[in-house]
Amino acid sequence: MRISDSQIRLVNSRIEALLKAGNFYGKKLKEAGVTSVSTPEEFEALPFSEKSDLRDAYPLGLMTVPEDQIVRIHSSSGTTGLPVIIPYTAKDVEDWGIMFARCYEYAGITKKDRIQITPGYGLWTAGIGFQAGCERLGAMAIPMGPGNTEKQLQMMQDMESTVLCSTSSYALLLSEEIEKRGLKNKIKLKKGIIGSERWSAKMRARIAESLGIELYDIYGLTEIYGPGIGINCKYNTGMHYWDDYLYIEIIDPKTLKPVPDGEMGEIVITTLVKEGAPLIRYRTHDLSRIIPGKCPCGSRYPRLDTIMGRTDDMMKIKGVNVFPSQIEEILQAFPEVSSEYQIRISHLDGKDTMRIYVETNGSVNFAELADRIAAKVKSVIGFTPLVKVVENGLLPRSEKKTKRVIDERYD
Ligand code: ZN
Repeated sequence: MRISDSQIRLVNSRIEALLKAGNFYGKKLKEAGVTSVSTPEEFEALPFSEKSDLRDAYPLGLMTVPEDQIVRIHSSSGTTGLPVIIPYTAKDVEDWGIMFARCYEYAGITKKDRIQITPGYGLWTAGIGFQAGCERLGAMAIPMGPGNTEKQLQMMQDMESTVLCSTSSYALLLSEEIEKRGLKNKIKLKKGIIGSERWSAKMRARIAESLGIELYDIYGLTEIYGPGIGINCKYNTGMHYWDDYLYIEIIDPKTLKPVPDGEMGEIVITTLVKEGAPLIRYRTHDLSRIIPGKCPCGSRYPRLDTIMGRTDDMMKIKGVNVFPSQIEEILQAFPEVSSEYQIRISHLDGKDTMRIYVETNGSVNFAELADRIAAKVKSVIGFTPLVKVVENGLLPRSEKKTKRVIDERYD
């Protein structure tokens, strides 16, 4: 989806602000001699921004307005070194609330709902974003924050919460506790809004079934407001995102060129109206694709597919970008195989080959199962892998993170 004229006008106003502030991106623009863009091609020639740029700007180097206009900061947890600090103006805070309220509306939530919010409050953007959207919508917030399962379940019953906001892992834990304690008849939950960490279809189905609720994936990252920049609607055909606030491109993470709609790649986001810390062509390293066409709900907002992982996981085989999560998803549809698998990529006789090892018990026909899996992989990825079926327990296990992809081409 190419950038529109009205989006380009908004980008130009951000370029002007960044040049004036002279922060890291203002300097990049100055070096490139750019003062404005007028075509999609010129926009696509703008430099990217990276998380490392944001980290280098610590503490307040991203600020793009005078300090008296900043009303709040948030921070993303840095696993290495310094965190990233994002300054917000009053308008940024308001815009975020508007986007988040829209997310709740897309999930069919109304002011009659009671929303139990379990993500954390504080420096990071989660809890407070869920709260702001809820208040703007006019629903009742039950601001629990994370943990304390006893109290969560008590409040869920006493307050008759109808919506649960949480991570997928916490939703799973709560659903198991509710089952274990036989509380299912005492809770009134109808919907779950689940943060966008990658979760398998199996886990999703499990939570939905066990709680008897509809689930919605919400997308966002601290660098770009926080959660609330996109959500799926009830047709569950991808996450609608708010292109009046953001321009999203999908790029090939190797060539850095935009890919056509429908193709998988890295999500790159430009904020169109953000004041405190506008970002242009910010590389999220999240993998997804833009879903072409219109959603049955009739919304004019474009759609992003579920996040399929991170760019660091990507493999290029026979010229095709492949993600381990795609293979994992295919294997999950085969109840005969265990949760363990291994992917080996090698280069033989001038050709890339992919071997997939899976485990099963002795009661199935190995060759027939291998053929079915290979056919399914071909239908999704476009080429046929070699599938090797082995006895349960033969693939390596690890107490830490099991290494599932071995690329022998670079050994
Ligand atoms: Zn829709």
